[in-house]
This record gives sequence, structure tokens and C-alpha cells, in this order.
Amino acid sequence: MNSGSGKYEAVIGLEVHIQLATDSKIFCADGVAFGESPNTLISTISLAHPGTLPKVNKKAIELGIKMGLALGSTISQTLYFDRKHYFYPDLPKGYQLTQDRTPVCIGGQVPIVTKSGLRRAIQLNRIHLEEDAGKLLHDQHKDFSAVDYNRAGTALIEMVTEPVMRLPEEAYAFLIEIRKLVRFLGIGDGNMEEGSLRCDANVSIREKGSSVLNPKVEIKNMNSFKHVQRAIETEIERQITLVKAGQSVVSETRSYDAEKETTFSLRSKETLHDYRYFPDPDLSPVVVDEAWLNQIKNEMGELPQAMFNRFIEKYQLSEYDAGVITDDKDVALYFNEVVAHTKHYKAAANWVIGPLKSQLRERMEKANAFPVQPITLAELINLVEEGKVSYTMASQKIFPELVLKPNQSPLELAQALNLLLENNVDALTPVIDEVIKIYPLKVEEYKQGKKGIVDMFMGEVMKRTKGKADPKKANQLIIEKLKSL
Ligand code: ADP
Ligand code: MG
Repeated sequence: MNSGSGKYEAVIGLEVHIQLATDSKIFCADGVAFGESPNTLISTISLAHPGTLPKVNKKAIELGIKMGLALGSTISQTLYFDRKHYFYPDLPKGYQLTQDRTPVCIGGQVPIVTKSGLRRAIQLNRIHLEEDAGKLLHDQHKDFSAVDYNRAGTALIEMVTEPVMRLPEEAYAFLIEIRKLVRFLGIGDGNMEEGSLRCDANVSIREKGSSVLNPKVEIKNMNSFKHVQRAIETEIERQITLVKAGQSVVSETRSYDAEKETTFSLRSKETLHDYRYFPDPDLSPVVVDEAWLNQIKNEMGELPQAMFNRFIEKYQLSEYDAGVITDDKDVALYFNEVVAHTKHYKAAANWVIGPLKSQLRERMEKANAFPVQPITLAELINLVEEGKVSYTMASQKIFPELVLKPNQSPLELAQALNLLLENNVDALTPVIDEVIKIYPLKVEEYKQGKKGIVDMFMGEVMKRTKGKADPKKANQLIIEKLKSL
């Protein structure tokens, strides 16, 4: 990829559509679900029968506002919905209801960290609310296409960035961040495969150091984050090759072919669309007052970025650990509870990232439904850190057993499973005395400076105590004994 090198640089702007997690559509009560039989989630309103009237779904507005609040956008005080006219068979009304002049959120920034560690805040232009279109099905019948209106009228937000990204990996990191936030805030499921998160990428090139915006190409039909990155990469290469050959880039919409790893032209943008926007006369403007805004803010709780920073500052987590833990809201809240009951923060992070997350994966469960309570896990962590049970036994035997018997205390379970470590000096001393008596030659070797011999004595003590000697305590006692001889 030569976008970052040579004479040219890329200019990238993204338009991301996110399906909102509302129970019903944005302007009527029809249900919202993926994969239902065609045309079962429709009504006269979705189908735009004459005389039917839309009504705004309050929840959709709240979800849109949440996204903006999380990204530092300005929230518009009065929301109008506008008609955007174009003809397409999946659009029953002949226009789409969207927000042209009063996007619900204006500005804001998305903080990203790319794979190669580059940190940037990506400036947003706007976030607006709109309705989705239906779906044309071209592969069901030989002679004609079919249309499914289930999706028509589903609530979306469209996030539009400023043309400020320079690298394809920034676009990738942007999408990762957006999906994380969407899931964290409960705005949607952010599932790109099911189309609940869709991204169009706008790409142009220019000479480095220049500030002009050259004609751009809009790329559609990428169905994974990786494909978005790849599509932008190949498009940049194509444009650079064109320009180097003395040709110019035409403003057009292209589609990404993942198999051939190329983009191909869909339609030219030379004829500017006239969408004839105007405010929908059937919908009254929605006023977002202070009280409503405050209620939404309160519902949101702590944002992932704030939590990330707090975990690093208060619990001394590494950025990596804090990132993994705040990747999922329920896991983050679980961790937050665990550290309220143990001072062993680093151990708590390891337990959450390791044994807890693998149990959740195995059980296909969210952390808030996990049977072992955070306080119970904290007790188990304390047992390990106090040297009462070994980490291996705790993670491999006690923890899985706790999942089945979540009401038992870790200490009781450790006792019942006979896994408590022996760190009682009176119990360990006779065992140590015995092994030292059996191996006088080894004791001689130790005295001559072969410190590694301690491991051999440890092994013997472990054998005799069936692995239940507290390794730290036993080690200390063996060394004391050897030194005293
Ligand atoms: P359009 O009129 O084609 O809809 P907009 O100005 O509304 O274009 O921008 C749509 C998207 O394209 C935004 O994400 C914006 O950042 C991006 N964009 C605009 N101009 C350029 C450009 N010259 N190169 C790359 N991206 C651009
Ligand atoms: Mg536009």
C-alpha cells in the first residue's frame, strides 16, 4: 500500500448507518426483527398507503442522542424530519424520512487507536436520524425481483465524519470504536453481517501538503471491517495509478468486490441528485428540553472512555487490560464490582480477562447473568493472593465448581475439595526436616553454593504433601532450614 508514501496522501470520510435497538419502527408500531419471513413486519404506514400518518418513536430519538452525548456532539434542540425524494422500488413512499437541516447531533469526535498505535480524534460532521428502506431480492425468482418491506421504516442513525482520515487503518479503527460504543450504550447490536452496521467509504487523493479536496469516490457494499480497510486500500492504489498516468479521478459510486479485491463502478455522480428536501408536514417538530436531556444522561451511566481511564488510574491496570475489560459493558461492570471487594487489582483483571471471560464464552452468557457473583470471585481471588489455595487449583477446580454451586463460599469449596494449601509452619516443618535428612549429599551441594537444589527439596515436599504445601511458605522454610545447618 503506497498511500502513506510517495507524493500522494489519501483523504477518507466515512458514512456509517447503525440500526437502532428499538422494538418498533421509527415512524410506526411495526415490529423490528432480522430474518423474519418477507413482508410480515409491515402495516399500511410502512407501505405508505394514502392517508396514513407517521408518528415519531421517542426511543429512537433517545438512542440517537445517547450516541451524540457519548461523542461530545451538540444536541439539536428542535428536531425536524425532512423528506428526501428519490425513486426506488424498496422505498414505498417515494421519499425517505431523514434529517437534513437539523441532525439530532452536530459535531463531536471519535477517539481512535490504530493497529500501529496511532492515536487520533476523528471529527464528526453530524449524526442524523432516518428510516431504513426495504430490501430487493434478486435471487428468488428467475424472471423478476421480489421486494421485502420488513426493514422499511426501521430506525437508523447515520454518522458522517469530516474528510479527515488519511489511512485505511484509521477507518478500521473508527469502525471498531463505533461498534464498541454502540454495544456499550445499548444503541444497537452493531452486527455488520446482518446489516445492522453499514459503512460507505469516501476516498480521494491529493498531493501531500495540499489542502484541496479532490473529486471523491464513494465505495459501497463492504460487509466486514476488514473489507472496508481493504476496499479503501485498493481504491487509493487505483486512484494513484490513474493520476500518475495523467488521467483524473471521476466522482462516482463504486462497489467492492471482496474476491477480486478491487472496486468497480456502479454509477457516476456527475449528475447531481436533486432530492428536493423539505420538512415533512405530517410530523411536528420534536423539542429536546433540558429535563429530557438530563434523564437520558442519567440513563447512560459511566461512558466506556471514562471507565477505561478510571481503571488505569485507580486500579493501575495496563491500557491493554483496561481495553479488554471495557470492551463489554457487563464485563466492565462485573470487574468494577470485583475490585470493590479485593485490593488485588491486577489479579482481579487477570481473573476477569482469563477464567471469567472463558466461562462466559463457553456458556454463551453475559457477565450480568453469570451465576458467580463478583463478590464471590473476589473472595476466591483473595484466597489465592493470601496463599491459601494455588492459582492453578483455584482456576481449574474451584472456579468451575463455583459456577455449579454459586451459593457456596470459595473457602468452603476449597475445604470440601481438600485444596487448601498447607502454610502452617507446624505442619510443614516435619516434612521438610524429613526430606533434608534423607538427602545429606544434596545438603552438602547446597552448602557448596548450588542454590538450585532448593527446587529439588521443594519437589519432594510437594510430593509428600500431595501438592498442598503453600509454595511460598515451603520455599521460605526450606531455605531457612538449609541455612541453619
Ligand atoms: P456528498 O455530497 O457526496 O454526500 P458530503 O460532503 O455530504 O458529500 O460528504 C459525504 C462524505 O464524504 C463525508 O463522510 C465526507 O467526510 C466525505 N468526503 C467529502 N469530500 C471528500 C473528499 N474530497 N475525499 C474524501 N472524502 C470526502
Ligand atoms: Mg451528503
